[in-house]
Amino acid sequence: MSTGYEEAIREIVEKYGKDSRRLMDIAIEVQERFGYISEEMMKNIGDALGIPLVKVRDTVSFYSFFKREPGGKNVIRICNSVVEKLNGMDKIVEAFEKETGAQINGVSGDGEFELRYTPCIGMSDQPPSALINGIPVTKISPSEVKHIVDNIKKGRYSREKASDAISWVDKNIRQPGPVVFAPMEKGKAIRAALNMSPEDVINEVTNARLRGRGGAGFPTGMKWSFCRKAKGEAHYIICNADEGEPGTFKDRTILTEVPDLVFEGMTVAGYAIGATEGYMYLRGEYIYLKDYLEQVLERRRELGLLGKNICGKEGFNFDIRIQVGAGAYVCGEESALIESLEGSRGAPRDRPPYPVTSGYMNQPTAVNNVETLCCAARILEKGAEWFASMGTKDSTGTKLLSVSGDCERPGVYELEYGITIDKLLEVVGANDAQAVQVGGPSGTCVAPKDFGRKICFEELPTGGSVMIFNSKRNLLWIVREFIEFFIEESCGWCAPCRVGTTMLARKLDKILAGKGSQVDLKELEELANTVKKMSRCGLGQSAPNPILTTLKNFKALYEELCKAEDYIPPFDYEKAIAAGIEIAGREPVVEEE
Ligand code: SF4
Repeated sequence: MSTGYEEAIREIVEKYGKDSRRLMDIAIEVQERFGYISEEMMKNIGDALGIPLVKVRDTVSFYSFFKREPGGKNVIRICNSVVEKLNGMDKIVEAFEKETGAQINGVSGDGEFELRYTPCIGMSDQPPSALINGIPVTKISPSEVKHIVDNIKKGRYSREKASDAISWVDKNIRQPGPVVFAPMEKGKAIRAALNMSPEDVINEVTNARLRGRGGAGFPTGMKWSFCRKAKGEAHYIICNADEGEPGTFKDRTILTEVPDLVFEGMTVAGYAIGATEGYMYLRGEYIYLKDYLEQVLERRRELGLLGKNICGKEGFNFDIRIQVGAGAYVCGEESALIESLEGSRGAPRDRPPYPVTSGYMNQPTAVNNVETLCCAARILEKGAEWFASMGTKDSTGTKLLSVSGDCERPGVYELEYGITIDKLLEVVGANDAQAVQVGGPSGTCVAPKDFGRKICFEELPTGGSVMIFNSKRNLLWIVREFIEFFIEESCGWCAPCRVGTTMLARKLDKILAGKGSQVDLKELEELANTVKKMSRCGLGQSAPNPILTTLKNFKALYEELCKAEDYIPPFDYEKAIAAGIEIAGREPVVEEE
């Protein structure tokens, strides 16, 4: 019996060449068409792709933006990251509940609206914010919510109009710098690269001492060199545009303002490593940028900057496809991102092998951050020496910082590496900082005594997120929020992360309730170190950082709450007997000679 959607699903699958690697695109499109992806629809997708239902279900069930049951016609996802909560999120939730008739995490009686929470959507510089049918709305005030809901009813927030959001999301480039936000001439970096051998391009990037801007700081030239030398049937370059670290939004601004520079960098990288295909993995929260970016790519094809024989260079063929994600922070980890790009759940892979030798489709793959690729393009354009003259010895060039929280001028700042926290606070207008969270929840919580420290790989590395908290904020509540974020985003593969983060939250809850003791504090630290050491990937390894860095830098806040009587563990009779201690009614263990 026909279910009515079989034909439509067949068409969608055919549109993507019946290629199971395009499962993410297929699932996104099926959901856009029908509002959800039922078990029956998943079976239809699997049949049309020639893959088992379980494989489709595995992928669909992993991503938070996919729905397996019918919900509201219009989905409102309210961002619940820390900065949003500190800027009136609760009042916005109340207003949406009143105007839509839906409770948070529920659907209105008429089926028109569904209200959900979602983690950071990359708008922390303009809170409170929400995604309405995937389209961002920012700086929402409670009094505005009625007007927004009226507009939803009029179809203002539909996929076809998604690009309109670019005009109302603030750019917030507070300080442009000489690398990323300087004027550019399309094709200049590519032409400069094509005048050199691929090896010389890699040498130029190596001489500039460019390091990955995602936070880990791996030398880009070395990554490209490993990738180029690795044997494979094909080589791939992937741009990681999945910035999901709470508090970061600089890639949003780059993609809106200088997308050509990113694609220029990808093309240079493609030439250097010997790739003919490049992928941009765009986080699901930025789907509103997709059509706009596709137009930019199309223009570049028309200009001969993508496609065959680029810039007249015989045999240099390269093109780029955009893959959209569907709400999974862990996909920012490069191997999880590759899994997602292949149409699977975004679970990190065991490493080694590393992507440079066995990445996308098990072929040599270089995964680079959006900002890294911009820097690479500029290095080819202006030279390694020019780039290396900025910043510090081990952190050359500039860094884009996404500054949010308690300051007068939140936004994106392009500054030379080596700026101190003190100086940064002055630039952004923050004169009452109790703490500065550098690098998002997985980074470091810096106390005023350390505000003289520099932002650079040598001292305080960051992918870009800088959150400022003033003296009125409850810092340990913020730590608890960060841990909740990791609980939500853990992929669940390994127990230290899946179970350990929840145990950390329970222990913190006890301490925050004023029922903690010194023993609890000790156990909290031990547990945090265990999760850090034993977790399988970067997410679990950095999840305890909010606790460990505040235990180090703000110990007094914990001490103040841990005044309860120390907990005395139950007496261990077996251990005592084994140790030869006499206990009434029990025989001591006598060691045989
Ligand atoms: Fe998944 Fe967490 Fe383990 Fe990483 S550390 S594999 S996110 S469970």
